Amino acid sequence: MRYLIFLIFSLFIISCGDNPCSICNGNGKVISDRMISQNCDNCSGKGYLICDYTFENTGFASATTYKCSNGKYIPLSVAGFNTGQLSGHTCSKCNGNGKLKCTKCSGHGKISKVEKTEENCALCSGTGRVSKLQSLFK
Ligand SMILES: [Zn+2]
Ligand SMILES: [Zn+2]
Ligand SMILES: [Zn+2]
Repeated sequence: MRYLIFLIFSLFIISCGDNPCSICNGNGKVISDRMISQNCDNCSGKGYLICDYTFENTGFASATTYKCSNGKYIPLSVAGFNTGQLSGHTCSKCNGNGKLKCTKCSGHGKISKVEKTEENCALCSGTGRVSKLQSLFK
C-alpha cells in the first residue's frame, strides 16, 4: 500500500514538467578537472636550452670573457696578455653538446597540469532544467 502511494506520488511529480538539474544545481555548467599537456615555457617545448654559459677567465695579467657556442668556448672580450687561450675548448657546462637539458620539464618539452574547465552539464545540456522523466533515469 505504501509502495502504491509512492508510485502515484512519483507519477504526479513526473507529470509536473521540468525540474532544476540536480547535477549542476540548475546552473547548466559543471566544473571539471582536465589534464592538459602544454609546451614547456622555459624551453619552448624543445626539452633543451641552448647553452650560453659565460665566464671570465682571469690569469696572469689577462682576463678573457668566454661564452659557450655550440659546446665550445669563444672569447667575447679580451684584455691583457695571453688572452683567448681557452678558445675552442669544450664547454664544461654542456660537455660540448651546446645544449642543456631543460630542468623545468626534465627534457620532455611538455608540462602537464590540471586545468579547471567549465563545461555544459551533460544531463541537462547546459539548460539547467531537466524533465522529471530525465531526472528519474539519470
Ligand atoms: Zn656549453
Ligand atoms: Zn622545458
Ligand atoms: Zn545540469
